[in-house]
Amino acid sequence: MTTTTAPVVRAEGVLKSFGRTEVLKGIDLTVAAGEVMCLIGPSGSGKSTFLRCINNLESIDAGRLYVRDELIGYAERDGRVYELTHSAIARQRRGIGMVFQRFNLFPHMTALENVMEAPVQVAKVPRPEARERARALLTRVGLADRTGSYPSQLSGGQQQRVAIARALAMQPELMLFDEPTSALDPELVGEVLDVMRGLAEDGMTMIVVTHEMGFAREVGDSLVFMDGGVVVESGAPADVLGSPRHGRTQAFLGKVR
Ligand code: ADP
Ligand code: MG
Repeated sequence: MTTTTAPVVRAEGVLKSFGRTEVLKGIDLTVAAGEVMCLIGPSGSGKSTFLRCINNLESIDAGRLYVRDELIGYAERDGRVYELTHSAIARQRRGIGMVFQRFNLFPHMTALENVMEAPVQVAKVPRPEARERARALLTRVGLADRTGSYPSQLSGGQQQRVAIARALAMQPELMLFDEPTSALDPELVGEVLDVMRGLAEDGMTMIVVTHEMGFAREVGDSLVFMDGGVVVESGAPADVLGSPRHGRTQAFLGKVR
């Protein structure tokens, strides 16, 4: 983990409401280059909303959210902030890969076509090059022999690995995972976590919302416990899991273990 470069993600006092419901009540955190941050917390604590703000699928109401020193969704000039254009937002989003609980693959496309789609359509990569890259990525997630399969012909674990390859195809500098194994049958969880572990070993910067405490402990560099729209506690995974300081963390960990 490098500490000499600027953080990949920096959140300062991030506030987000839906109507009158305050969902994020001032989130402060940083993610360093190459860091794997695991994010845990009860349902409704704002984890997904926070990831969606980083990816600009939701806009924030106050505070600052930077990815690589760039404000997400806004430009800062002379001390004032301006909303970015759609194309500038799309460019920012391209540097961030997101993997959801549900795989959201295009059902009418093969695994290979799913992985090629964004590079060809969005980044205008020539097809032969996109195909080669897609093959390499599917090999990386252990699916070299399933490039021609349609999503309906793949298990949930295989589909999720295609979804990871598809996110990697845009060569992101940051990967966001929102409960990537929660929809999977238990016997398929391991193959997806193994791919994520490999990514971490290759130095990818990752924020992972998960209930897999074993993964958090073994792969995570840091662990953040959120509850009620605030960061209650964060630190080294072994410390937070082994000796949580706050009652809310203790109560939550008591329930998930
Ligand atoms: P988590 O991922 O930790 O379970 P979420 O970020 O999904 O939590 O949700 C936090 C809170 O925000 C919940 O109370 C949820 O109902 C609410 N919420 C999330 N998205 C929306 C939305 N688009 N409109 C209104 N409320 C929302
Ligand atoms: Mg969620």
